[in-house]
Amino acid sequence: MGGNPEIDGGHPACQGGVSVSDAEALADGLLSADAAAMLLALLAAAQAGTEEEVPVGAALRDAQGRFLAVAGNRPVAAQDPTAHAEIRVLRQAAQRLGNYRLTASALSVTLEPCPMCRSAADHARVARVQCGAFRSQSITEQDIGASLAGGHAFFAPEGAELLRIFFDKRRHV
Ligand SMILES: [Zn+2]
Repeated sequence: MGGNPEIDGGHPACQGGVSVSDAEALADGLLSADAAAMLLALLAAAQAGTEEEVPVGAALRDAQGRFLAVAGNRPVAAQDPTAHAEIRVLRQAAQRLGNYRLTASALSVTLEPCPMCRSAADHARVARVQCGAFRSQSITEQDIGASLAGGHAFFAPEGAELLRIFFDKRRHV
């Protein structure tokens, strides 16, 4: 493990958690790139959940499939209403590349992005959005504002399950 402060923002929790080098190791022949990206996003989501954040995670890859950033939700600890997982990976990747345009990148997120994140992804020129779980059955690709990666529904139940467990626990506190 061992986080990269340049990539994960230097937060102590991230340094002990999922790093981009882990993502690259996972993707190195063990899983399809999309599956590895969703798995990393799920791990970041689970980590966020253990820190009392809503368990949503995201991973971003560049046009060549290299992992640029992995992050979980962090609005509570960061005292920042915009610190959604997707915004965090977009910020980290832009800083890493020194460019606010992340042209042709692929965003994997455990839950369908909210309007703020969808808009940010569009501004960043993200080309593909892979969602683990959807908020609504009626959502379409046009609603997401980018083409969705297909064929990875296998991971959807886990993304949704994390959220269900988190909110169930909240209701019973
Ligand atoms: Zn969001």
